[in-house]
Amino acid sequence: MNDTLQDRFDDVRRRIGEACARAGRKPETVRLVAVSKTFGPDAVKEAAECGQVLFGESKVQEAKPKISMCPGHLEWHMVGHLQRNKVRDVTRLFRMIHSVDSLRLLETISASCQETGSSMPVCLEVNVSGERSKFGMLPEDVPATLEKAATLMGVDIVGVMTIPPFAEDPAESRPFFKRLRELRDEWHNASGIELRELSMGMSNDFEVAIEEGATLIRLGTVLFGERKAALKPVDAEPIIES
Ligand SMILES: *Cc1c(COP(=O)(O)O)cnc(C)c1O
Repeated sequence: MNDTLQDRFDDVRRRIGEACARAGRKPETVRLVAVSKTFGPDAVKEAAECGQVLFGESKVQEAKPKISMCPGHLEWHMVGHLQRNKVRDVTRLFRMIHSVDSLRLLETISASCQETGSSMPVCLEVNVSGERSKFGMLPEDVPATLEKAATLMGVDIVGVMTIPPFAEDPAESRPFFKRLRELRDEWHNASGIELRELSMGMSNDFEVAIEEGATLIRLGTVLFGERKAALKPVDAEPIIES
């Protein structure tokens, strides 16, 4: 890519604005999570210089050293599949978790937050398509989880997240986004839990997701370029502050 990171942020902001206009929404109702996985602290720092504050990571072992090398004012969200033995690190490094896919994980997060007296906003990841390979809870398991979660201290379910099956044509993602919004409305009505966040939409389909109500879009490639192999912690160069 010849364009600069600032150009790409400007272009994404313009596209968010246009999608919001089509949907009759205010652009402030959509938060952009810049997914920096596989890119080092240098890329994060450059994005921060473009005014970006909110970043997403999908692997704890990659994020832990990276976050320590990045500017301190940034806000980090965990967007990837999470194992229970990594929860202690996650509750200390991240401000929100998008990808909670079991009650056991929720209970572990609750226990970890209670140790520090903190509270973690989380989204339940929902497998709307029913694809076997995907992470996420099946929709029919969500109501019971919401009911149990209401009794857990230290976790606050603020919304739901989904990743539709990959499709070249973003129009193919629309039914999954629409379905998640409808399910969210049903679960909200049944449980009384607000579930204000809809975390949906990636580089290929974020405009469709916004049209269907996304409040958090998670963008990697369209900002940082194509990912190569996963970044190993040893490859991460520290930022030299001058
Ligand atoms: C990598 C990743 C993204 C970003 O994907 P792009 O297609 O590069 O925008 C979004 N969400 C999750 C959960 C991811 O792992």
